[in-house]
Amino acid sequence: MQKCENCNTQFSWSKIFKSFWWTYKPIQCDNCGVIHTITTLGRSTVTALTIVPMLVFGYFLSPFNNIFVTISIGILISIVGFMIAPFVVRYKKQL
Ligand SMILES: [Zn+2]
Repeated sequence: MQKCENCNTQFSWSKIFKSFWWTYKPIQCDNCGVIHTITTLGRSTVTALTIVPMLVFGYFLSPFNNIFVTISIGILISIVGFMIAPFVVRYKKQL
């Protein structure tokens, strides 16, 4: 998971997760106060982990004929992707 590029303090999962909710709000390090912003790649990663698996499941993989079941599971998959995202998304020190 992302660490502070200045002092190597580990950012918490919830801190990064909350940043997503506020349209990728910059994260401030609790220890040294340096601001970190999400990278373009980081934003793409969030999309790749949430929207893409949901669409792939919905269009190609769903074994269900029921559209509501398919949508519900698709949403569940995107929520799981969203929860995994803080572990892989990269932030960089703001200059
Ligand atoms: Zn720091």
